[in-house]
Amino acid sequence: MSSESNRQRHCRPAAESEMALAAKSHHSNGEVTHDDENNDNEEELDDNVIFADGFDDQNMERPSFTQPSQHPTIPMVLSEPGVKPVIQIPATINRYLRDYQRDGVHFLYQHFSKNTGAILGDDMGLGKTVQVIAFIAAVLGKTGTKADVFYQFMDGKTGGKQKDSISKISDTVLIVSPGSVMYNWKEELETWGHFKMGLFHGNTKEDTLQRTLRGRLDVALTTYETMRNHLDDVNKVQWLAVIMDEVHRLKDPKSQITVAAKALRAKRRYGLTGTPLQNKLEEFWCVLDWANPGSLGKSKTFTREFDKPIREGQTYDATKRELALSRKKSKNLQDMIRKFFLRRTKDLIANQLPHKDELVVFCPLTSFQEDVYQTLLQNPDVELITKKNFPCDCGSGVDRGKCCYKVNTIECAQYTVTC
Ligand SMILES: [Zn+2]
Repeated sequence: MSSESNRQRHCRPAAESEMALAAKSHHSNGEVTHDDENNDNEEELDDNVIFADGFDDQNMERPSFTQPSQHPTIPMVLSEPGVKPVIQIPATINRYLRDYQRDGVHFLYQHFSKNTGAILGDDMGLGKTVQVIAFIAAVLGKTGTKADVFYQFMDGKTGGKQKDSISKISDTVLIVSPGSVMYNWKEELETWGHFKMGLFHGNTKEDTLQRTLRGRLDVALTTYETMRNHLDDVNKVQWLAVIMDEVHRLKDPKSQITVAAKALRAKRRYGLTGTPLQNKLEEFWCVLDWANPGSLGKSKTFTREFDKPIREGQTYDATKRELALSRKKSKNLQDMIRKFFLRRTKDLIANQLPHKDELVVFCPLTSFQEDVYQTLLQNPDVELITKKNFPCDCGSGVDRGKCCYKVNTIECAQYTVTC
């Protein structure tokens, strides 16, 4: 079967049901409400009216990778059964996710639905960006199809998204990242969906701010420095959520960037980091306190209750009592943070990662490398190793290494020459 017919077979029904859901969840700020009315809105959506001539939903799907996905093209529902609007990862994205990434999106959404923050601390290379984009697509009611483009067009005509009348929260997600990766975020968002984006940076700051205030943007992108220097403008918006990439930058409670980040107008704060933070508990406290203010208590209390006893138990001269207390506190802390700190290492989910192919290539040394190698072989210490199995020159018949030329294996271990 060709991949094209395969796509049609899987994709069309799923895309249609998503459009219907998007119609219901659009204009929502993602707050979960129990709304039993208008359950039959699907009927009002007429495919032929929305998708009049000129659009081909196949080529407007995002992402549109040439590589076929391993999974069927179905969305993944994140919201609880019976809760409206239904919040789901669009099928277009979901088909490319691995199971641990779906778990990650679910983790973020659970916090979003409770108006709480969280930290995603997966190892580098496990796809934190795509998990976040899937999460944003879900809470904004995206479908990854031409339906998104259609609604963006409608917004332009009708003067912006409808605001939530109770919470006054905007429908825009703010992504703060180091300047070096801001454009990567833009590219990734363009690859994985149809998002209306603006850069709050350089000479587009005012334009982005105005479009956000008018409800025209899905995502605004900025850098740590711009956020800090223009905090008053940034705080004209009550953000739907803030994503802080490389959130370990907020480890110093006194730095201006940390102070600015803690003053952001957003309850839903999600930090990303691939750097293990738990080694320095004070820094760890600061990052988690940004995501969920007060969740680990005040800084001084935290130091007294956790940081100090845990560190005391880790010193070489710790008493048994200190060691026991340290372990107990460490376990208590793990239990406390598990709810809002998700960290997966590559080892932990190795079974879900693609098989690594190893290709061994033999190539000759360059003349310079050969000179270095020969010099190393002539080093007396290395000679002890390379000749240790030769018969000893004293005539005993025993190997050199066991006779007159004993090798100190610890000192010589730094040389790993094999002959
Ligand atoms: Zn000897």
